[in-house]
Amino acid sequence: MPLITSHITSHPDGGVSSRDPMTSKPLVSLVVPVYNEASSIAANLTVILDAAGAEDWYDLELVAVDDGSADASAEQLEFAALADPRIRPISFTRNFGKEAAVLAGLREARGDAVIVIDSDLQHPPALIPQMLALWRNGVYVVDAVKASRGKESFAQGLAAKAFYGLFQRFANLNLRGHSDFKLLDRLVVDAYLALPERRHFFRGIINWANYPSAQLPFTVAERAGGQTSWSKLKLARYAIDNLTSFSSMPLRCISWVGAGTLALGLVVGVISLVQKLRGVGVEGFTTVNLLIIIMGGAIMLSLGVIGHYVARLYDEIKARPVYLVKPARKEPRE
Ligand code: UDP
Ligand code: MG
Repeated sequence: MPLITSHITSHPDGGVSSRDPMTSKPLVSLVVPVYNEASSIAANLTVILDAAGAEDWYDLELVAVDDGSADASAEQLEFAALADPRIRPISFTRNFGKEAAVLAGLREARGDAVIVIDSDLQHPPALIPQMLALWRNGVYVVDAVKASRGKESFAQGLAAKAFYGLFQRFANLNLRGHSDFKLLDRLVVDAYLALPERRHFFRGIINWANYPSAQLPFTVAERAGGQTSWSKLKLARYAIDNLTSFSSMPLRCISWVGAGTLALGLVVGVISLVQKLRGVGVEGFTTVNLLIIIMGGAIMLSLGVIGHYVARLYDEIKARPVYLVKPARKEPRE
């Protein structure tokens, strides 16, 4: 099986390869975002490293990013790093969200290939050797795609369907079943890191970039300890944020809503005028009330959509860093 080396040696850093010159093996990085997983993180990292280290044609490192956990996850990562030098922990000063944790991990990773995987074992680590085999065959991106969505309520399934449908329609991206469990070649990681935008939607952007990819189906496992940190409200916000960051279609929809209501208004106006001329008394109170409510609602909704885009502009222009890394503990001064 030929090793794909051409793009590795043409690394944008001017050929700075992360390979060990003694073994000249490629380096594979695992990026693991961690938030409030203290109860199971140590065991989970072992499972991930065991699965990923099954073959020896590559070296391994694991970048574990503690996303400002409120529990002892950060300490657990420090312990794990002491026991296994392949583990490199980073800690945020506060919770910046999974996207920020993934970004930090990608920035920190030095591998020729980088695999992003959840820390709760919902992404089966057993898939990693297959991902690496595909990469070795020349694929730039391996998407692990959910064959089944695991346990979820009817409403959750419906919301997911609506989200993917809108994404397909508005942004022309088919994200159905896609997850953040991916392998990226160094070239793709560098392209991702070179994007100037501050708000990231990892799986959307990788899909949008459309590098040669392969898909691996998987079944979402039960969570190994802890609980999901996504409330329904958080998920809805995530969906709206990502949709508006990928498409200006909602803005354009406003014009259509405006045109539609204008046309309706004209029709109602003409009917009222004709009735007036005919001398038929129009009992207008209910109609006027309804019109005010409907128009008021439509205007508020439109303002809300515009407001959302203005807020996104505001966030991008403020240009705050996506995350802040917790500094090492200071030694007391003499
Ligand atoms: N996570 C994170 N920051 C957050 C929320 C989650 O780094 O603010 C991590 C979490 O530790 C896990 C992964 O992202 O490794 C997926 O989170 P979770 O399991 O809560 O999401 P779900 O699997 O329910 O979509
Ligand atoms: Mg999970």
